Amino acid sequence: MKQFKILISLFIVVVFSGIVFAGGAGDEALQKLMDGNKRYVAGNLATKDIGDTKRKELSKGQKPFAIVVTCSDSRVPPEILFDQGLGDIFIIRVAGNVVDPIALGSIEYGAEHLNAPLLFILGHTNCGAVKATLEAKGKPEGNIGAIVKKIMPAVEKAKKKGGTEDEIFEAAIKENVKNVYDDVMKKSNIIPHLVGEGKLKIVAGEYDITTGEVEMIELPKATPSKKTH
Ligand SMILES: [Zn+2]
Repeated sequence: MKQFKILISLFIVVVFSGIVFAGGAGDEALQKLMDGNKRYVAGNLATKDIGDTKRKELSKGQKPFAIVVTCSDSRVPPEILFDQGLGDIFIIRVAGNVVDPIALGSIEYGAEHLNAPLLFILGHTNCGAVKATLEAKGKPEGNIGAIVKKIMPAVEKAKKKGGTEDEIFEAAIKENVKNVYDDVMKKSNIIPHLVGEGKLKIVAGEYDITTGEVEMIELPKATPSKKTH
């Protein structure tokens, strides 16, 4: 009888933890990306189909499982660092991984029309765009000013917190990722709506260009949007 009771409680624990931890499509997508990053760091890349058959299959339509917003930096290629293949990830790359209406429109397209269940906002160590903003004096040249302007609030926040030069740089990179998340949630009607409906999960991280590892950055809890589209 005692054994039976133990078995029953074990059964309950297993079933309930299954319910609690049962991830949706967004969680599964995140797992896929992080598994891919582990393979990349270990130098144990998966065999990917990038051949003619796969191309032809994808020409009929794409169904990427994740959207990634990251920096244009040549050392931060999402397909490589997440070890993914053709048609897997929908990528928006802009210096400093900031978003403007065009980038937001691209995210909305990936989430609403292609039904990607995950948005990953990925900053990276030693980001030149953040560094340039930290060192900005006067008016930057050409259109770079638009990027600097976007990153500046993160730099100001990091400077206020203080610390060594490296600490401020690192904090600014993380703050910038959080600000991008804020922009996505505040400047899009569609994205918060999809998040509220449980159709889209948003996560953030920082890619270490030296180790190859992606470290998660905690985001503030999403407040459901009152706006509809
Ligand atoms: Zn960068």
